[in-house]
Amino acid sequence: MKPLLIATNNPGKIAEISAILAPLPLKLITPAELGLTLSIPEDGQSYFENARKKAAAFAQVSELPTLADDSGLEVEVLGGAPGVHSHRYLADPSATDEQRCQALLNQLSAYPRPWKAAFQCEIVLCNANEIVLRSHGSCPGEIIPEFRGKNGFGFDPIFLVEGTHQTMAELTDEQKNRISHRAKALQAAWDDLLRFAAS
Ligand code: IMP
Repeated sequence: MKPLLIATNNPGKIAEISAILAPLPLKLITPAELGLTLSIPEDGQSYFENARKKAAAFAQVSELPTLADDSGLEVEVLGGAPGVHSHRYLADPSATDEQRCQALLNQLSAYPRPWKAAFQCEIVLCNANEIVLRSHGSCPGEIIPEFRGKNGFGFDPIFLVEGTHQTMAELTDEQKNRISHRAKALQAAWDDLLRFAAS
């Protein structure tokens, strides 16, 4: 099977990407399995730029085709923030997901509800020399002022998915992996991923 390195150490992302790509004839590899501890500064101005940087850097070092995602949460009343800066929404890198959610709720408490929001995700697959594919997905919803559900990661417990009465953290893994921004980006790239797997 064709090897594909997943350029993230976020266990939530690894689990989701692995489950979504499971039907494809790909042998997914994590940086941890290769003992790779690259730290790529995510200082780009767009999800694409950050995803491209991560995929290209891991592809060069590992000499394996590499898929990276960059994602974020955009809140309408905050003009789209934290957006591409979501991963460092709190400066303290040891802050927990719960602390990040609470900080966002504190910030939003100054604004009237509903707090409309959307998750965004850009996927880039690179080999050592070039971009093989890129794709985008989004998932609309709203931030609610309570924590609900235990699944997922990041802002999932306070993100009510549009058209449902459930937060992202109340969805099962299978449900999240059908409707999430990451799922949408990978679904949109499915034909290219099939071609890549067969190449
Ligand atoms: P990055 O893609 O590693 O830059 O991280 C983006 C940040 O956005 C994560 O650390 C989470 O806080 C948030 N995020 C991205 N995707 C999700 C998701 O599926 N659920 C909840 N939070 C997410």
